[in-house]
Amino acid sequence: MPETIFAKIIRREIPADIVYEDEQCLAFRDVNPQAPVHILIIPKQHVARLVDAVAEDQALLGHLLLVANKVATEQGIGGAFRLVVNNGAAVGQSVFHLHLHVLGGRAFTWPPG
Ligand code: AMP
Repeated sequence: MPETIFAKIIRREIPADIVYEDEQCLAFRDVNPQAPVHILIIPKQHVARLVDAVAEDQALLGHLLLVANKVATEQGIGGAFRLVVNNGAAVGQSVFHLHLHVLGGRAFTWPPG
């Protein structure tokens, strides 16, 4: 697996505030939260960007969305939350290990900046 900060979190080499884990993914609080609830959901297998996912990843991608539902509900924001996937540096991706941002607990504007 390529070395990213998230690979180190998966291997427990650096700490994270983990809120959910199963065989396929890990969810933990963002270290620099942009909302009262800001959780990252990452697959345990390495996929650098969403655009790098392939047909074999279909079930995994669906699983990540269902985990987003579960985590949002458990965190009390099931009625209103935003999912963000930054794909590529130009739109803000800074860690090249696929992750879903689950954001909630405040109002959001649209369109995003
Ligand atoms: P992105 O900019 O979409 O690639 O999102 C990467 C996110 O990872 C940012 O929101 C960072 O605040 C977050 N992040 C970076 N390092 C850590 C870490 N060690 N623990 C938790 N979140 C992190």
